[in-house]
Amino acid sequence: MEVARVIVDAPLPQPLDYAAGELGPAALHAGTPVFAPLGARSVAGIVVGRAAAPSIDVAKVRPLRALIADVAPLPDDWLQFTRFAADYYHCGWGEIAVPALPPALRKITGADPAKRVLALRKRYPGRAAESAPSAGPPVTLREEQRVAVDAIVAALGGFAPFLLFGVTGSGKTEVYLHAIAAALAADPAAQVLLLVPEINLTPQLEALLRSRFPGEPVVSQHSALADGERTAAWLQAHEGRARIVVGTRLAVFAAVPHLRLIVVDEEHDPSLKAGDGVRFSARDLAVKRAQMLRLPVVLGSATPSLESWAAAQAGRYRLLALAQRAGGAAKVEAPGAEGTAGGTSGLGVPGGTGATAESVGAPARVVAVDVRAHPPEHGLSGPLRSALAATVARGEQALVFINRRGYSPVLACDACGWLSNCPRCSTFAAYHKRDAVLRCHHCGWQQRVPRACPTCGNQDLQPVGQGTQRLEETLREMLPQARLARIDRDSTRRKGAAAATLDAVHAGDIDILVGTQMIAKGHDFRRVSLVCVLNADAQLLATDFRAPERLFATLAQVSGRAGRAGQPARVLLQTRYPDHPLYVALARHDFAGFARQQLAERRATHLPPFVHAALLTAQARAMETATTLLELGRELALPLAPQGMNLYDPVPMPLERVDNEHRAQMLIESPRRPALHAFLREWLPALRAAIAERKLRARWHLEVDPASI
Ligand SMILES: [Zn+2]
Ligand SMILES: [Zn+2]
Repeated sequence: MEVARVIVDAPLPQPLDYAAGELGPAALHAGTPVFAPLGARSVAGIVVGRAAAPSIDVAKVRPLRALIADVAPLPDDWLQFTRFAADYYHCGWGEIAVPALPPALRKITGADPAKRVLALRKRYPGRAAESAPSAGPPVTLREEQRVAVDAIVAALGGFAPFLLFGVTGSGKTEVYLHAIAAALAADPAAQVLLLVPEINLTPQLEALLRSRFPGEPVVSQHSALADGERTAAWLQAHEGRARIVVGTRLAVFAAVPHLRLIVVDEEHDPSLKAGDGVRFSARDLAVKRAQMLRLPVVLGSATPSLESWAAAQAGRYRLLALAQRAGGAAKVEAPGAEGTAGGTSGLGVPGGTGATAESVGAPARVVAVDVRAHPPEHGLSGPLRSALAATVARGEQALVFINRRGYSPVLACDACGWLSNCPRCSTFAAYHKRDAVLRCHHCGWQQRVPRACPTCGNQDLQPVGQGTQRLEETLREMLPQARLARIDRDSTRRKGAAAATLDAVHAGDIDILVGTQMIAKGHDFRRVSLVCVLNADAQLLATDFRAPERLFATLAQVSGRAGRAGQPARVLLQTRYPDHPLYVALARHDFAGFARQQLAERRATHLPPFVHAALLTAQARAMETATTLLELGRELALPLAPQGMNLYDPVPMPLERVDNEHRAQMLIESPRRPALHAFLREWLPALRAAIAERKLRARWHLEVDPASI
């Protein structure tokens, strides 16, 4: 009895066997999306092959329910790629592959799916058969941009990973566009994939691509699209009708049959790594996909991830440096030398227009303000206060950046020492003055602000520390004539609120914008001449080994928001550690120097990219259950671990309790990647079985190449 081997979205080690049944031989075709019975349910799956006989009792083989509309089978290379990803991240193949299908196709609805797909094809036809070949982008390239484009174009048709390193305004986007044009021109069927970290960057980019490639359908793939649009975009890419596919991290799994080039913008951005479900890295997978398909992949950033930077230093990636700011005179040396360009990130795509942000002046001057010499009052030290006042008086704009929303991170009682702890988490609930609530930013718990101290009845509870709301209030009192706005997750909850505030800033209707790192990404404030950074020290002291790298990227990005229309800008960084190497490197716009120092530290302390790591985490109602699971894992691991592998002791996570779940982790490190994966392949099934056998009531997951430790 011939059977179809089918993967479904579940942590299964093997595909499941099904009979083709009424669907006939078409259902045995590898790559065919199908609906299959699983227990009492019907679930979406993908046929990955066929077998002459089932691996289970013939009587237990059930027939497939239906084909998913009349979607063409997914190509072999796509199956191989998703298979690789599943093996690498040690999850079920279907857990990676099936969620890559658009949600509407995975749902069984009353409507006939075939009709639905047909209607979508009509509504979104994609490329017209006789569409004109894409006109080359009209912008003339500078020498170093041309060198970069030529290198990428020469590599078309073979695997070649590039790291495109350049400050904002150095014209990375223009390099992408020219490389895309060349890839599309070389082959009438060719498609390209462009990955970006943020959903809110895709509309700007889509508009830019449309204006530069008027003959070519461009589609976006990300989770904020409506079902119909998302399905249509997926079909257009899968059926070759869209030649340019833009998307967030999940789009790395887009079905793009004639893929010729992949671009990953802001390759350092943590959003390119999935934070739940299977924790895959879209950047790393993009490189792997390019390798499997033998095509060039371009990773672009102003502050590359240290992994990519190390790969470029070692010669595994080819470094393309844009040292010069377009239109600016800031001359910088090649990477590896002192004084290399750091600066900012961001696509530099002004909303909706076809132009790129090329009018850039000298990089902002970064000045550390020592809070020991200038003690802050309500969060703001003297130099920041006078700089803000002077900026507003000159009719210029200022940005005040603090990475904490709410009024204050804690509310406290001076009489008895009570603090506003979250009852569900091992952290504080922040004070939100306007809503008059205490709110936990980790689990969402909230409660009305108590009138008096819950322990001693003292009515005079005090906010401790600064949040965006409190800073806004302080600034209002200090500069009553200034027009203020705030951007953080609270102020932008209403749809369109962020865009409206940003428009007001661009129109010059705002003098001071206060915000969290939401203001750092992808926005271009041309009239801003002053940026104040508060409380960066908190991240400087964080225990996570990637914290310095992220801080540098964020600060470079925030600084780069300023002075982009030619006028000199200043960044005032309020700190207790003005001589910290990170701040010194930032002030010198010296990413290369910063990276060299960080990589030396990581090498000395055996951290990635010099070792390969996996992190087992467990969470449960009781810490004991979580640690029991990890101890069990450790016990099973010891006899399997090869020489040189480090199995660390289970420890509570830095934020130990979230939403009443206690969390612990265990780190596994190996100097050799194959050894780590060989070990995980043996160990995980044993662990899974042991957890089931002991009926441990804990949730757990394994993260390969963990984002933070
Ligand atoms: Zn009290
Ligand atoms: Zn909480």
